[in-house]
Amino acid sequence: MTAFADHSCATLARVSGYDLQVPLVQGGTATYANFDYAASAPALEQVTNRVQELLPFYASVHRGAGYASRVSTDCYEAARNTVARFLNAADDQCVVFTRNTTDSLNLLASCVPGDTVVLDTEHHANFLPWVRNGRRVVRAADTIEETIQRLVAELCAKPAALLAITGASNVTGELLPIERLAWIAHQCGTRILVDAAQLAPHRRIDLQASGIDYVAFSGHKLYAPFGAGVLVGRRDWLDTAQPYLAGGGAVREVSATETEWAPAPQRHEAGSPNVLGVAALAAACDALAALDETTVTEHELYLSHRLRYGLKTIPGVNFLRIWRDSTDAVGIVAFTIDGFEPGRVAAYLSAEHGIGVRDGRFCAHPLLAALGVDGALRASLGLGSTAADVDRLIDAVSALVENGP
Ligand code: PLP
Repeated sequence: MTAFADHSCATLARVSGYDLQVPLVQGGTATYANFDYAASAPALEQVTNRVQELLPFYASVHRGAGYASRVSTDCYEAARNTVARFLNAADDQCVVFTRNTTDSLNLLASCVPGDTVVLDTEHHANFLPWVRNGRRVVRAADTIEETIQRLVAELCAKPAALLAITGASNVTGELLPIERLAWIAHQCGTRILVDAAQLAPHRRIDLQASGIDYVAFSGHKLYAPFGAGVLVGRRDWLDTAQPYLAGGGAVREVSATETEWAPAPQRHEAGSPNVLGVAALAAACDALAALDETTVTEHELYLSHRLRYGLKTIPGVNFLRIWRDSTDAVGIVAFTIDGFEPGRVAAYLSAEHGIGVRDGRFCAHPLLAALGVDGALRASLGLGSTAADVDRLIDAVSALVENGP
């Protein structure tokens, strides 16, 4: 490990709420230990500053000549360039602003001219929208190699327009070899979409180097507030599909009987957009791009290992894992504790220790069913996570198990 002389207090960036005091059931307060970054990540300081700076210029974009409107329009369009740069998008890939990942995937689903192949390990957001265009579900095997062979067989057996795959599992954090999958998909004449809701906050994505055709993610998981997301990808499908929403801003010309739609991205951005959300998302992209990637990854791996190691020593703790041969994961650890109901454990951690984890099925019902559990706990890490927080979580789980269900 480099960079961290004292892991217990090192954070990589200042996030909002890092010193939040939360009430405890036994009285008093504790500093909130946030292990729910995978649900929504708190805003980075740079993001908060950007929103405060822009708030006075809150105005409608594209159609106003006033100063505030021009500032808002410039910010909105500059954010497109920022996102394209953040992802190293190719010239034929455009940036469409949406509400979140779910919105982006539904938008793309309305544009895909053919079948879409998915795995059964996906978040519902990358599973349900594809029903509308001939979804073909491939069951994941217990190794990545075998899972890839099954995908190859499916793509070879019958042409598919799109392979829609997650970059990092929202349940286990495990990563698939995206570049290899992109290469395989392209050999079969299929494009690839990566659901990067969990990948983008943790790892750099280079669209050109990896061969990814489409990518989607949410601002609120990328250290920005709710309400803005992106779909970035090849323009041709986006340019020719029916607009995702019909309305102002998505058109070139309208008469009483005829409509001439604008090309992408405007074609799919009808209505007044979320300028502040988009500017915040772009500020988060810039802030993440300025961090050293190796340092971020090492910090997170260190904390994940510390967490796994600590939990592993507690009797009855079992980790969820999709693939036996996976070797890399982002900072998401899902586990069950024999004899303990996940919802009650999560409530205890919050009420008695001020620790926030997630419990349930994580919008991935088919995956949880395949793993043979009907609920679990999920602790997810981010830029504000510390080893001291990790140790608090381990100690709290340990105390619970010692005292019995
Ligand atoms: N995809 C993955 C992998 C996710 O983890 C999530 C949210 O948890 C989504 C998609 C949906 O994101 P959103 O709710 O921001 O649309």
